[in-house]
Amino acid sequence: MISIAEHRIDAPRVPAAPASERRPEDLRAEVWRIAGAVVDPEIPALSIADLGVLRDIRVDRGAIEIFITPTYSGCPAMNVIAVEITLALAKSGLGPARVTTVLSPAWTTDWMSQEGRRKLKEYGVAPPQNGGGRRALFGIEQINCPRCDSADTAQIAEFGSTSCKALWRCNSCREPFDYFKCH
Ligand SMILES: [Zn+2]
Repeated sequence: MISIAEHRIDAPRVPAAPASERRPEDLRAEVWRIAGAVVDPEIPALSIADLGVLRDIRVDRGAIEIFITPTYSGCPAMNVIAVEITLALAKSGLGPARVTTVLSPAWTTDWMSQEGRRKLKEYGVAPPQNGGGRRALFGIEQINCPRCDSADTAQIAEFGSTSCKALWRCNSCREPFDYFKCH
C-alpha cells in the first residue's frame, strides 16, 4: 500500500476572476460543468451531458457559444434546454452565452454516457441497448427489465410516456416499464 496523503499539497486559493479574464480552457471547463448539469425536461433523471446532447463549447475572448443536438428531431425540449442553459450560466455569473442547435450529425443513443445509462436504469427506464440487446433473428429486441433484470419481457406499445420511449412489461415482476429506444 502506498499512502499519497503525505505528498498532498493544498491548492493555492485564487479568487474567481471575471469570465473575460479567465483562461479560455478554465472558462470552458466551468461552462461545461454548469451547462452539462442542465437536465432534459423529458427525462429529468439525465443531464444533457449524460445524454450527449451537449456537443461542444467554444470560448473566444470571454464570448461563450454552446452547441447542442436534440435527442429526437422535433423534440420541443430543445428550446427549454437552451433557456435553462442560459439561466444556469447567468446564475453563476457567466455569459451571455449563445446556444446553437446542431442537427447534423443527428443524435444517437450511442452518445449516451455509461453514467447516463446507469441513471436511466435507476430511474426505472431500460437504457438503449445499442446492438448487443437485439436478437439477431426476427429483428425482435430483447430488453431486460430495469427493476429485476429479467429477460422475460414484452413490448406493450410502440410509444411510452414520450415518443422517445416504448412501453414494455416484465413478465417476472409484472411491472410495466419504459424502454428508451435506440436511435
Ligand atoms: Zn421485472
